[in-house]
Amino acid sequence: MTATSAATFDQPLTACPMCRSKRIGDFDVDYCGVLISRCRDCRLLFMNPQFTDAHLAEFYSHYKPNDVARDPVIALRRQMSKADNLALIERFVRPGRFLSIGCGDGLELDSAQQRGWNAEGFDVDEASARRASARTSRPIRWGDFFELDWPLNRYDCVYMDQVLEHPKNPQDYLALVYRLLRPGGVLFIGCPNIASVSSTWKGWAGRLGLKRGRRGRHYDTSHHLFYYSPRVLGNLAERQFGYEVLASEGDPLNGRKPSVPGSTLLDRMTLGLRKKLPFLESTFRAVYRKPMTASVTASASIDNAPHELRHPTRPNPWRGAPALTRQ
Ligand SMILES: [Zn+2]
Repeated sequence: MTATSAATFDQPLTACPMCRSKRIGDFDVDYCGVLISRCRDCRLLFMNPQFTDAHLAEFYSHYKPNDVARDPVIALRRQMSKADNLALIERFVRPGRFLSIGCGDGLELDSAQQRGWNAEGFDVDEASARRASARTSRPIRWGDFFELDWPLNRYDCVYMDQVLEHPKNPQDYLALVYRLLRPGGVLFIGCPNIASVSSTWKGWAGRLGLKRGRRGRHYDTSHHLFYYSPRVLGNLAERQFGYEVLASEGDPLNGRKPSVPGSTLLDRMTLGLRKKLPFLESTFRAVYRKPMTASVTASASIDNAPHELRHPTRPNPWRGAPALTRQ
């Protein structure tokens, strides 16, 4: 089944979901006819219109998350990737309370726990969360992330690896995560890089008619609704949500390549360079910090951001969400 053979769509978005600018325009279309818009203010790319909640629920009911029992090389690669992500995080914050959002099989919870973190997880899917919790012996919540009664200003690290491109409301995640973090706590994000050399080439080839029936496959519109670059996401994190960007780099360990990273001399020689030059890699990873000076009572409401000064009528997404206002 193609991504859109049974897809239904919401009404087209008339404003950028992240910065609320109404200056959005057509950018691309993929082989399924899915349209990609770009915000002329923050430069974010996003599917427009987006799939309905019903369609996404149907899609994710068949979704096969990662499983620790997969191919041993892929499993080892994933373990190395998690450990490397945690090593990057630990450059900026000492092990403390850790929350992985979209934790799947919970492999990063194992790694974090072994490194001295107090690891917790969250997954939308109850069955997946129960399985991972039983395997890792770590607490994992499930359900609607925005309905759960989270402790505010408590987490030293929130971890979202290959997550933020999936939900229809990434702005709500960035804002709530800010409130979960203690001042000085960090948010780790890993995402596909739409500005990589590979994606840039594929985008141009598609627009020039060179991809035929494969145009825009790199957007992965079956389940990716937002398409980030390190620069665009970093700018949004800083200007829209109040984070400080601590690190932003290529993620050569991510992915399903059938090899162990560093297993060849060329690989060992280029791993560091590929991190420093994120456009070489199809995915990037970033660490953002909630400022030490952030008030523990202030929210990262996007209404506090500079953009809001330019768009004073923008609605507050937290209005009417009393469960999230409790300490
Ligand atoms: Zn925007």
